[in-house]
Amino acid sequence: MSMAYIILGNGVAGTEAARNIRKIDPSAEIMIFTQDHYPLYFRPRIPDLLAKEVTAEQIFVYKTEWYYKNKIQLYLNCIVKSIDQKNQTIVLTDGSHFSYSKLLLATGSTGFVPSIDGINTTRDIFTLQTIEDGRITGAIFLGDIKNAYEIGKLMEKKADVSSYKEKILESDFDIKNLLK
Ligand SMILES: Cc1cc2nc3c(=O)[nH]c(=O)nc-3n(C[C@H](O)[C@H](O)[C@H](O)COP(=O)(O)OP(=O)(O)OC[C@H]3O[C@@H](n4cnc5c(N)ncnc54)[C@H](O)[C@@H]3O)c2cc1C
Repeated sequence: MSMAYIILGNGVAGTEAARNIRKIDPSAEIMIFTQDHYPLYFRPRIPDLLAKEVTAEQIFVYKTEWYYKNKIQLYLNCIVKSIDQKNQTIVLTDGSHFSYSKLLLATGSTGFVPSIDGINTTRDIFTLQTIEDGRITGAIFLGDIKNAYEIGKLMEKKADVSSYKEKILESDFDIKNLLK
């Protein structure tokens, strides 16, 4: 009977694990589940996305064809809610479940926002970990001044850029549009 590998997380760890499992087990069923909206992309290039130097597609590591060619099923937009170890299944937030022979957790990390007196952590602090973060932060920082180099210059001078963020946050800023 062929193995069914489930990998949680489509970051570099999960995706490269899938690539190597495929090398040693050509007949295995390989499924990657991720809450991400995109296939693996280069996180170090998210700042370039913020600066609008690249599009999201340009920072993809593997395109859809690669997953197809390697028979790796990529389940995007799926949040894994729990793992039933006894029955060897994972359960998604929509209630659906999938069985595995082997399970790999490659769920990475999330940005840590330290609590600092005087800073409103829900409004003033942005983390930069995903394509959506890059788009939202880019729009908030750059939407008003329209030039990545401007913000760089302001930051070099340690200028206060919060007024730009305030302006955008208080306007009819369409965050949903950026998530498309
Ligand atoms: C802007 C930026 C620049 C960087 N630059 C460098 C660099 O120059 N050099 C360097 O070595 N590293 C760099 N890093 C760090 C590097 O990108 C990370 O170390 C790497 O992404 C970790 O990969 P990972 O696969 O372990 O986890 P991640 O990339 O964090 O992937 C984890 C995946 O798990 C998914 N996930 C988590 N929980 C669930 C759940 N419950 N259900 C479904 N899916 C879930 C997430 O959606 C995500 O897709 C940078 C990171 C960023 C953000």
